[in-house]
Amino acid sequence: MTDHANPSLSAAEACARLLAAVAPIAGHEFLPVRSALGRVLAADIIAPHDVPAHDNSAMDGYAVRFDSLAEAAETRLTVVGTAFAGNAFSGLVGKGQAVRIMTGAVLPAGADTVVVQEVTRLEDGVVIVPPGQRSGQNTRRAGEDLARGAVALSAGKRIGPAELGLIASLGVVEVDVKRRLRVAFFSTGDELASLGKPLAPGEIYDSNRYTLHGLLALLGADVIDMGVVPDRPEALEATLLEAAQVADAIITTGGVSVGEADFVREVLARVGEVKFWKLNIKPGRPMAFGKIGNAWLFGLPGNPVAVMVSYTQFALDALLRLSGLDPVPARPLLSVASANAIKKQPGRREYLRGTVAAVDGRWQVTTTGNQGSGVLRSMSEANCFVVLPEDCAGVQVGDSVEVQLFEGLI
Ligand code: AMP
Ligand code: MG
Repeated sequence: MTDHANPSLSAAEACARLLAAVAPIAGHEFLPVRSALGRVLAADIIAPHDVPAHDNSAMDGYAVRFDSLAEAAETRLTVVGTAFAGNAFSGLVGKGQAVRIMTGAVLPAGADTVVVQEVTRLEDGVVIVPPGQRSGQNTRRAGEDLARGAVALSAGKRIGPAELGLIASLGVVEVDVKRRLRVAFFSTGDELASLGKPLAPGEIYDSNRYTLHGLLALLGADVIDMGVVPDRPEALEATLLEAAQVADAIITTGGVSVGEADFVREVLARVGEVKFWKLNIKPGRPMAFGKIGNAWLFGLPGNPVAVMVSYTQFALDALLRLSGLDPVPARPLLSVASANAIKKQPGRREYLRGTVAAVDGRWQVTTTGNQGSGVLRSMSEANCFVVLPEDCAGVQVGDSVEVQLFEGLI
């Protein structure tokens, strides 16, 4: 299958080229904290005060001065008050004194150490502390998480649940985030029927647009569904030009192969700057990438599984970079034992669909049945891709293979 005019590109090389080509969109907006979930920060968030704001107790117990405590014997301290979270003890803790303190309460003046309640005894307003305490123990220092003026979160960070909480902990009420990415997509093919009408002979229902709708909605993009475009160059050209007016990125499926009804490549070359790649992978060998006006174009193959492979392995990184994510996180590959043998010839990188599960306490992966690139059920049953590298010449039962979990991917 060598084609010297257009040699196959490795998956790694294709990823590198995509990431190098695209730059983040400039548009941004200010949103209330909760609405920023899933968005990408457009500017650094600077801590306006120390977090925590005060020295405080990490445990329920007694706040004391470390220099009150005997090194090798029990110490008896007079309890002079109580400090609650949100209701501080206003006095001073002197030598020989203790203040009953709750988790999160401000450490009273004079105290530097907290003795946990469980190791103490209380007798008539006197607390008895055993030896062996350490100076400063069970306290949290002001600014320990984050000092005032420090970058709490950097521009380019995607806002998840932890970030929402962190932003709230700073008292920040509005967040500067990138606007949503606008992604237009359509299917190509004369055989495609839309939902709601019976299939004529030779027709199939268009599933790719539904899969892409799901992928792009989960990405948090504004989706622009442009329907089904027949295999006619004029129709393709008109739709592409229209999409390029409204979108940051365009995703098409089908028509990028070398068949007689495959016009994407030819039309792209006419209306935009286009690279056409033959990727050294299976499934999803052909892919077009380029630009029409200001819109980036990802011409994915037609087979439903190939669509998901080429989206998750290539288009997704570029869309994340376009959205402003910096860095675009690497997709982790985890090694697990294969529960079944897998046939493979060396040459291409293969993405099989698999299910990772624990069997007798050990994680292993089983490939899902029919691995045909049109069999979407294999994606639905799976929870990971089994990624077999180019030089792999087959897998025996028990061999270690690399898997990429769908979690966080789709
Ligand atoms: P193509 O690359 O256009 O030749 O398409 C490859 C295969 O994918 C063909 O069997 C098509 O029928 C199928 N296919 C293309 N587009 C879709 C779609 N939108 N939904 C379901 N199957 C499709
Ligand atoms: Mg087609």
